[in-house]
Order: sequence, then structure tokens, then C-alpha cells
Amino acid sequence: EHHFTFDEAAAFMIQHYGEFSPKMAALAQHAFEHRWIEAEDRAGKAPGGWMESAPETHESRIFMTFTGSPNDVSTLAHELGHAFHSSVMADLPNLRQDYAMNVAETASTFGELIVADANVQAAKTNAEKITLLNAKLDNPLA
Ligand SMILES: [Zn+2]
Repeated sequence: EHHFTFDEAAAFMIQHYGEFSPKMAALAQHAFEHRWIEAEDRAGKAPGGWMESAPETHESRIFMTFTGSPNDVSTLAHELGHAFHSSVMADLPNLRQDYAMNVAETASTFGELIVADANVQAAKTNAEKITLLNAKLDNPLA
């Protein structure tokens, strides 16, 4: 399985977000450059990720454990999808900024799938491709 450094993951994500939407890529680049993401892999820290928006500042923060696996790159893409959603909601009137969970997961799942597809395309062996396709099928169940 290919392992990413955090900087490689950032470049990979910005590239593939950008192939779909320059606005999504710009948000991701802004998040990386302004250190919105706390991703250190340290003892006692749980796996997974979380995004929290701060509407007052029009910013988001992402907390996750990044080990360098393709799955962590997908998690990062998922959380950045949430951050993108928050960024496009920021200028709407307050009463239009509330949304249900299924809507909340739309941009994040979409961002995750952009990167999951790119990971499958970049696989160097059939075994790696099968592992990545399996993860792509498992994640929606989660
Ligand atoms: Zn989510």
C-alpha cells in the first residue's frame, strides 16, 4: 500500500480537487497554508477525523490522525469537503445555514470519492487497486 507524507497528501488532494473544481482546490490549499488541520499521529489519539466550522471567522478546523495511508487521505478529503460546504454557506443568511445530516455528508462524501478514485487510478499493482476498491466500497457503509 502506498504511503503519503502529509505534504504529498495535500498536493494530491489539491490536484484532484482542482480537476473537478478550482474553488474546492483553492479552499483545500487555503486550509493547508493556514494550518487549519491538526493531523499529528501521536500515542493515545483516536483514528478518524472531525471538522468544526467557526462561522464568526468563516474558517474551519479539522482534527484527525494522519498515518499516511490512502484511507487517511480519503478521510482528509472527506473533512475538507465539510470545510468546503461550510465555506460556501458562510455568506448565506443565518436561517439558511441549517441543514440535515444527509446534506451535511454530501460535499464531504463527494470530496472523499474524488480522492478515492484518484487513489485507485494511481495504484501501481492489482493488489493495491483491489485494496483501494474494497475501501471505496466499505466507506459508504461506515
Ligand atoms: Zn462527514
